[in-house]
Amino acid sequence: MARKAPPGGKARTRAGAKVRPKRAAFDGRDQAHDAALRAALLRWFGLARRDLPWRRTRDPYAVWVSETMLQQTRVLTVVPYYERFLRELPTVGHLAEATEERVLALWSGLGYYRRARMLHAAAKEVAGAHRGIVPSDVESLRSLRGVGAYTAGAVASIAFGRRAPVVDGNVARVLTRLFAIEDNIKSARGNARVWRLAGELVPDGDGDPGDWNQALMELGATVCLPRAPACEDCAVRTFCAGREQGIVGRLPRSAPKKAPLSVTRVAVVLASERAVLLARRRGDVLFGGLWEPPTADGGVAELASLLGVDPRTLERAGDVVHVLSHRRMRVEVARGPLSGRRRWPLPGTDYDAVECVALEDVGARAQATLARKVLAVAGVASSL
Ligand code: SF4
Repeated sequence: MARKAPPGGKARTRAGAKVRPKRAAFDGRDQAHDAALRAALLRWFGLARRDLPWRRTRDPYAVWVSETMLQQTRVLTVVPYYERFLRELPTVGHLAEATEERVLALWSGLGYYRRARMLHAAAKEVAGAHRGIVPSDVESLRSLRGVGAYTAGAVASIAFGRRAPVVDGNVARVLTRLFAIEDNIKSARGNARVWRLAGELVPDGDGDPGDWNQALMELGATVCLPRAPACEDCAVRTFCAGREQGIVGRLPRSAPKKAPLSVTRVAVVLASERAVLLARRRGDVLFGGLWEPPTADGGVAELASLLGVDPRTLERAGDVVHVLSHRRMRVEVARGPLSGRRRWPLPGTDYDAVECVALEDVGARAQATLARKVLAVAGVASSL
């Protein structure tokens, strides 16, 4: 039997022969445990994986687009956006050459529009500095604008088979439960611990790193659910320390979420039978680059005056409530007739363009879901 090795030292058998220590003990694991866990989860993933469009390709550009869209967004929501995006912009070169307006239009309704702008900017970097070839290593991927550790790890492992970890909300939940990690995963220490563990678990010759990462994500998305994990159906339940210790329900630990900020705004929809007035938000503000009916923080009369419209010609259309990750927006919508004026003033400092848009063209403009809701309340949606 081997004695316990001193820190950083080597264990010896009773006979005095040196033995190579198992991988540094961390969370009560050893190499045999990790290998058996990997085999069980990869076997399950091979049988249970959902057939998703981005899983039918190893094209790094397609993987990159899908992983960017999947951040903060549900799989079923992403599928039609992903398919249309790849159909319209099938290569990184197509994306690099597209206008921001077109990219945002393809992203309209998916939310978190900064992701689209960053993806577009990074595609230009790939087209230029990388001669159109998506880099295969984490470091080069991370040097691209908007590409963080998660996306870099996903592209490197899934498209190129590199030994790179990924940690998203699903992976963090699965790992903290499997290894009974009680650190706050939002803390620097907890986050580093989960990333280190994820890195140590990536297969090294005994499985595909991309499949492993996707298997962890899949388990989190379909079995190890936040509120009701299906432990009895879980392929790795015999490895699960959280389950054994009866603490799954309180994992992962994180700081309580802040209540979303309540914001009240007003919107004025000026429309005729043929057109509606839309304004484009500046690139550096919320919903940057997207078109919407003029909206402001003040009152309807104030916004009408910015537009040079008599507020008495406006009527109340209703309210729209829209919840973003950190704010809950209530927008009071007023509508009125669109005059034949050719030039319109910018309706505030958040905008850099204003235009009368033909109703049949409104749907092709880059818009947030909130703008679509505002138009719908004002009765313009049927024309979209
Ligand atoms: Fe998650 Fe339960 Fe499986 Fe553990 S046994 S990994 S808690 S689903």
